[in-house]
Amino acid sequence: MLQVEQLSHSFRNGQGTVPVLQDINLTIGEGKMVALLGSSGSGKSTLLNLMAGLMKPDQGKILIAGQDIVRFSENRLAEFRRSHIGFIFQSYELLSNLTIRENVELPLVFMGISPSKRKAKALKLLEQVGLGEKAKLFPSQLSGGQQQRVSIARSLITEPSVIFADEPTGNLDTETEEEIIAILQQLNRDMNTTFVIVTHEAEVAEQMQVVLTLQHGILVEEAVREV
Ligand code: ADP
Ligand code: MG
Repeated sequence: MLQVEQLSHSFRNGQGTVPVLQDINLTIGEGKMVALLGSSGSGKSTLLNLMAGLMKPDQGKILIAGQDIVRFSENRLAEFRRSHIGFIFQSYELLSNLTIRENVELPLVFMGISPSKRKAKALKLLEQVGLGEKAKLFPSQLSGGQQQRVSIARSLITEPSVIFADEPTGNLDTETEEEIIAILQQLNRDMNTTFVIVTHEAEVAEQMQVVLTLQHGILVEEAVREV
C-alpha cells in the first residue's frame, strides 16, 4: 500500500548539491507498524517528509494506495494529503487559542463536515486516546504527553490510510514515551491504520513489525518480524 521506488533527493547549498537520500526502494504493507531508524542526519525526516508529500523528490516514485503522489499537481496533492495522509510532529503543533476538541476537529473543518458530526467524531477519538474529560481545555493546560495524544487524535480524524510521525516522543520522558507508543499500537490494531514512526531509539524500533534503517541516506536494512 506504500511503495517507494528509486527515490533520490539532494539539498542545494552554497557549494553545490548534497545528496541526502540515494536510491531508496521499499514496500510497506497495509496496517503495518513501521519504524524508520537511523542516527541524526541519516535522512529520516527527509524520507518521511517526501513520503508524506510535504516535499517533492528529485527522482523516484512514491505510491500510496496505488497512486504516485510525486506526479500529482499541487492541488491534487493537497486534496490527497487531506484524505489519505496523517502527520504527527515532535512538537505537537496544536493551536493554542483552540480547545482540545476544536484542535482535533480542525482537519474536518477544512473538509466542510458539519459541526455536529465533527464534534461527535472528535470526542470519540479523544476517548480513544484517554482524554475524553479534557475536551474543553486548551493545549497549555495539558502535559506534553497529553498534547501529543491530542495531536494523534487529530491525525486520525480524517481516517487516513497512513500516518507519518517524526520522533513523536522526542520531547517526552521514557515513561510517557512508552504510553504514547502503546496508544499508537492500540490504534493500529483497532483501525488498521499504517504508522511510519521515525525514531533514533532502537528500543522503540524493536516493538514495530517492520524496521527500516537508514545510514547516510542509504536504506541498509529492512527487517520484518512478527510482534
Ligand atoms: P534526520 O531526520 O535523520 O536527522 P534529516 O533528514 O533531517 O536527517 O537530514 C539529513 C541530511 O540532510 C542532514 O545532513 C541535513 O543537514 C540535511 N538537510 C536536511 N534538511 C535540509 C535542508 N532543508 N537544506 C539543506 N540540507 C538539509
Ligand atoms: Mg529528523
